[in-house]
Amino acid sequence: MELIASLDRKLKALDEQSLTRRRRVVDTPSAPRLVVDGRPMLAFCSNDYLGLAAHPLVIEALREGASLYGAGSGASHLISGHTRAHDVLEERLADFLSPHLESARALSFCTGYMANLAMLTALGADADAEIFSESLNHASLIDGARLARASVKVYQHADVEALAALLEASRASTKLVVTDSVFSMDGDLAPLPQMLALCEKHGAWLVIDDAHGFGTLGQHGRGALEHFGLKSPNLVYMGTLGKAAGVGGAFVAAHASVIELMIQKARPYIFTTAAPPALAHALLASLDIIGGGEGAERRAHLQALIARLDADLRLSRWERPVSTTAIQPVIIGRNDEAMRIGAGLYQRGLWVAAIRPPTVPVDTARLRITLSAAHTLDEVALLAGALNEMERTWDESQ
Ligand SMILES: *Cc1c(COP(=O)(O)O)cnc(C)c1O
Repeated sequence: MELIASLDRKLKALDEQSLTRRRRVVDTPSAPRLVVDGRPMLAFCSNDYLGLAAHPLVIEALREGASLYGAGSGASHLISGHTRAHDVLEERLADFLSPHLESARALSFCTGYMANLAMLTALGADADAEIFSESLNHASLIDGARLARASVKVYQHADVEALAALLEASRASTKLVVTDSVFSMDGDLAPLPQMLALCEKHGAWLVIDDAHGFGTLGQHGRGALEHFGLKSPNLVYMGTLGKAAGVGGAFVAAHASVIELMIQKARPYIFTTAAPPALAHALLASLDIIGGGEGAERRAHLQALIARLDADLRLSRWERPVSTTAIQPVIIGRNDEAMRIGAGLYQRGLWVAAIRPPTVPVDTARLRITLSAAHTLDEVALLAGALNEMERTWDESQ
């Protein structure tokens, strides 16, 4: 049939560029030691940075949440789906981030992808608004900017001078500077203090996507805001709850008026069923851990693992950009080569994600190693040893 044949041609073209994506089936909870397609593996590819996804207290809270609130929320937040669990979670998040925001309020979402769509469409709703977007921003920020009526200007990675020139030239009624805090495929940090100073000077919002910073950065886990000691009414903060927080969902925290506007106007918030309340209830346990002594210990262990990888990896051909976060990329270049290295590691029982375009720029296919506080120092040493040896014996013509 021609309809199907036209799709099959597209799929074949992807395959010829080594761009076909495949899913593996995991049979065990998120942890370094997994059973994947029936086989035990040591994994370095989850974003469960603090190892909370399988934490006994979080699992217990999820059970408790289900017995208190049932399985589903039944409706959107503005109809009848906004439960006490959602409301308490939002209050806790606002309180947690209040050292960094003025008149802090938080709004919870089913996913970070939706939170970004909601935030950018609500704040960038006017046709004469402008969004200034960093070139390596996450897909959900790019899609949110496309969905907003605002016009979009892209500035190059970490180029504060280019951003300054764009803001200087802008006559927009609303200016939104939008950036990842920790870049999801590189692990480096945006120069947020300089960016915030520019935003304050030009009356612009600074929208920070802290998907990889919330819970992992800062003494108390308050993310990039705490790491850099930021405080401003211009800040709009998005944190995800399926990564370091180990459960699922996301939130936006900002001045109460920003949140109220989103409740009134943001279609990706209004027209969707609220997340199961048990997830919100479980997240209260995650927040207790993140903000408490155990969270601080887990963050310290994560730093020790990063230092160990740094000390043990001895690569000369494959490039390692500087990263001080749990995201540790090894840039290979060609798609097929990155895939073969990923497959080689997998054969040795090590699961590391090979990332290709369009997730990363063309010719920068890479291994994206992610570390979790649930890893041991020995497990990290094992990975480093395997990579060192593979590079030494690598045959390009293979
Ligand atoms: C994961 C991620 C998101 C999306 O969050 P989900 O809750 O997984 O939908 C948004 N931004 C960045 C930078 C991310 O890494």
